[in-house]
Amino acid sequence: MAAPLLHTVGPLDGSDRSTADEPYYLPSGAEVAVFEHCHALRLAVMLKGPTGCGKTRFVEHMAWKLRRPLITISCHDDLSASDLIGRFLIRHDGTTWQDGPLTRAVREGAICYLDEVVEARQDTMVVLHSLTDHRRILPIDKTGETLVAAPGFQLVISYNPGYQRMLKDLKPSTRQRFLALDFDFPPAPREAAIIESESGADHATAMALVSLGHRLRALRDRGLAEVPSTRLLIAAAALVVSGIPIRQACLSAVVSPLSDDEALVGAMRDLVDATF
Ligand code: ADP
Repeated sequence: MAAPLLHTVGPLDGSDRSTADEPYYLPSGAEVAVFEHCHALRLAVMLKGPTGCGKTRFVEHMAWKLRRPLITISCHDDLSASDLIGRFLIRHDGTTWQDGPLTRAVREGAICYLDEVVEARQDTMVVLHSLTDHRRILPIDKTGETLVAAPGFQLVISYNPGYQRMLKDLKPSTRQRFLALDFDFPPAPREAAIIESESGADHATAMALVSLGHRLRALRDRGLAEVPSTRLLIAAAALVVSGIPIRQACLSAVVSPLSDDEALVGAMRDLVDATF
């Protein structure tokens, strides 16, 4: 029984939208409009794309825009249905029921974001099914309750199709319950704009990091399983802004985290040297 990693953004009535800062998100296509329509139509959404390409930031931005609280659950393979729904807690004066994060989101009309959903066991994911069709209900076997989702409740899952392909995948009966939005690393000028905005780096530094990112991503064909994400390029840029020389920043923030394989690390170092 492992607790889900969880955080909530905003009070549960979403009332602080005017005071909370808008999470910065640079769109790459029609995803904002499509998501707004899905929300209005009460449709569950799956965000597909590589790690670190902006899926979580997108959901944070949309929750802000739609004035909904956001409950995020980081999935892992120990995650059980009780972790999502809730459990009885034994106390000195008796037992009390404690809602899990999914139940809270259902009661309060929040956006419930399950990050890296393939990490969770498939039998855990089955509890989502009745929330994704027209019934929008959550049966809680342990209390005998059947909750109808409050207006505004929306289920969003993220999924990295390239990761551990074949080993782990979403069940067809689960995936067919979601509309999908495809994400990928943005084109060079847009990725540079994101790096500048997030790290405070100048344009030339951001463009150089994007160019390195593109060269490193081409190593996927040579066996680099995890390619550098926008997140890693932002981390390198942030190190540069704080005074670390750019080559060192790239080695610490990008090259070393990506692989332990000597040949691949060597190839990445050569590309850093060729870029700067
Ligand atoms: P994912 O959820 O896909 O793994 P994140 O949303 O956490 O990735 O993105 C990693 C970081 O990259 C974010 O914290 C943000 O700084 C940045 N980022 C990526 N794409 C965008 C974007 N389109 N607009 C703004 N920031 C972005």
